[in-house]
Amino acid sequence: MHDLTRCVQHPEISREGFRSLAVPTYRASTIIYEDGESFAARSQRGFDGYTYGLHGTPTTRTLEAQLTALHHGVRTVLVPSGQMAVTLVFLTFLLPGDHVLVPDSAYGPVRNVCRDYLRPRGIDYTIYDPLTDAGIAELIHDRTKLVWVESPGSGTMEVQDIPAIVQAAKARGVMVGCDNTWCTPLLFKPLNHGCDFAAEALTKYVGGHSDLLLGSITVRDIALRQRMKEVLRSLGVGVSPDEVALALRGIETMGVRLAHVGRVSEAFARRLQDHPLVEQVLHPCLPSCPGHEFWARDIGGSGGVFSIVLKPGAEAALNPALTAMKVFAIGASWGARAASSRPCR
Ligand SMILES: *Cc1c(COP(=O)(O)O)cnc(C)c1O
Repeated sequence: MHDLTRCVQHPEISREGFRSLAVPTYRASTIIYEDGESFAARSQRGFDGYTYGLHGTPTTRTLEAQLTALHHGVRTVLVPSGQMAVTLVFLTFLLPGDHVLVPDSAYGPVRNVCRDYLRPRGIDYTIYDPLTDAGIAELIHDRTKLVWVESPGSGTMEVQDIPAIVQAAKARGVMVGCDNTWCTPLLFKPLNHGCDFAAEALTKYVGGHSDLLLGSITVRDIALRQRMKEVLRSLGVGVSPDEVALALRGIETMGVRLAHVGRVSEAFARRLQDHPLVEQVLHPCLPSCPGHEFWARDIGGSGGVFSIVLKPGAEAALNPALTAMKVFAIGASWGARAASSRPCR
């Protein structure tokens, strides 16, 4: 064999007796076929078959199956970010003329996509009070296709009465999607409560180390998964197996990490309640948090993120206090390890 040919042919080696606990990272664009017939019939492999790297590899399928099992769903779709997990549901199921309900407490960029992308394309939206429970029924009209929930909400931390919202939506044949990033399937399983979509930013607790971006949508109805996969296929969106490999590693320790941050955040929130500059602590575990009763009924455990409202006048001290911090770094997202030091100059 010519040396140049050898360079492009990895030799076959024995795999007998080799089993690892790690999930192999399969990187692929091209996927190869046994013969001309199977190549010609590749479209009949369906969405679960392997046809092209963009649409899935055994690495991505492993994480999908793991999230599906955790959520008691039937399938999971992976996307490149948590934001895309939310927008994929919107882009797939909302058509011009349709209407979506989005809570005031939703992750900020979700509101932006409604205003800047959906509305110019003839898809209408209403921002609703996240503490509207069964009252959501009054906001649903004939064109309403989807109710979005996010609980606890971003920043303002309201815990929503998801069962009541689901009941009102289902009575009108409206789908419900839930951004479940704070809870993860370990604290709350939206599909068990009647939601059609459980969306998550895996960037946060599944990843766990501030070094990856990934999102997921888990469904109970395979038809919903097929439609989202068709949109991803048309748009040419897939996820990197390297990101997924990091997520597969991260998810192994998610249980212990979440239990720890939950304990620490609850204790820290209780402590801050007595601080002279703090007006209100917004942590779902505290009765002072709007929707605390739904947290106690449906969730009962905690993620790490919570908010505080400072007393009037405390703003002036905020920036100097943030700048003076030695262990905590300043940035968008949910935090991970402590920053070891200020950048070198
Ligand atoms: C971070 C976050 C997202 C977006 O996740 P990215 O992967 O950063 O795009 C969506 N929803 C919630 C609640 C989040 O905290």
